Amino acid sequence: MTESIMPTYNRIPVSMVRGEGSYLYDEDGKAYLDALTGLAVVGLGHAHPGVAAAIAEQAATLMHTSNLYRIPLQERLADRLCEISGMENVFFGNSGAEANEAALKIARIYGHSKNIATPDVIVMDMSFHGRTMATLTATGNRKVHAGFEPLLSGFVRAPFNDIESVKNIGANNKNVVAVFVEPILGESGVHIPADNYLNELRAVCDQHGWLLMLDEVQTGNGRTGKFFAYQHAGILPDVVTTAKGLANGVPIGACLASGEAAKMLVAGTHGSTFGGNFLSCAAAHAVLDAIENDGLMDRATELGDRMVARFEDALKGNNRIDDIRNKGLMVAVQLTEPCTQLIGEAVDAGLLINVTSDTIIRMLPPLTMSDDEADTIVDKVVALINSLG
Ligand SMILES: *Cc1c(COP(=O)(O)O)cnc(C)c1O
Repeated sequence: MTESIMPTYNRIPVSMVRGEGSYLYDEDGKAYLDALTGLAVVGLGHAHPGVAAAIAEQAATLMHTSNLYRIPLQERLADRLCEISGMENVFFGNSGAEANEAALKIARIYGHSKNIATPDVIVMDMSFHGRTMATLTATGNRKVHAGFEPLLSGFVRAPFNDIESVKNIGANNKNVVAVFVEPILGESGVHIPADNYLNELRAVCDQHGWLLMLDEVQTGNGRTGKFFAYQHAGILPDVVTTAKGLANGVPIGACLASGEAAKMLVAGTHGSTFGGNFLSCAAAHAVLDAIENDGLMDRATELGDRMVARFEDALKGNNRIDDIRNKGLMVAVQLTEPCTQLIGEAVDAGLLINVTSDTIIRMLPPLTMSDDEADTIVDKVVALINSLG
């Protein structure tokens, strides 16, 4: 591997040259069933015909003018996302971290609008929000902070899925202006909170006048069986961010807001050169079309439940299994022992999976896969687990 790339990633020594649906193909023509989709990005599968056609047509028409001018495709995308989410307006950037930066800036302006000079945002242990300075500070993982101190001020930490600790902070800290949380912890291993967690957070936020800000960079875009994971709880946040699955691989990020939060970022307070350009918006429209027309949210629910039932059946009584869990197509099998070696063994077996927090096999397969492909992922993962020495 070349030394002219900064060594920020431990790369698996395989080079894909082509993708189709649920499969990737390397330079030797070997096929890999993709149960990770580039970290929940390629939710419609590789080389999706509708997305590919939309991108090709837009690239041959107009890609970028900047936000100095109107961008009708961006306006229509914002309308669609507001309709889907119940939010009022959208800021477009190019990544999850950028969407989250917008959310955190909204929280700070909101605080200042209430005459709080040093506003605090409550963030959760084990969370992941990105790698920029504000989003790495918001992240609840020491490894992400290490070496980058001083971290930003204005963050208060609470354990995930612990409403009492949030209430305690509220009783003691008058500078809090917002709670920022993933509805399901993604990077740290598909941790699903109690059913009423978001409802209780909503109530605490209402009681104190705080913004409820949800990071749906990974959980959004149909992956959990609803467009946004908060829609399972029947609540509305004040701010919600998304990115990964929104344009099936074209960089895009979106920060959606409603109520007071929607009034915070005005001309001159925030911006992005590339954000919401014609190309990324054309891709996102094609993704929304497919999610709606092909019933992909219902498929995410069906396929996720099918995978978990098959895992439970095949792994019943296996003492290496700690937990099997999912919400739609965020699927995890947690072992009682470290198993990072399975990533490489899976590659040998023609399967792409991820292992997080050392013991959690994480799967984020395409919403467009067939029942057979879902079964094959499960069977291959079971075989890998059973092969552990
Ligand atoms: C991946 C992820 C991010 C960061 O997104 P980038 O596009 O890598 O900046 C933020 N939040 C969550 C929940 C994520 O899963």
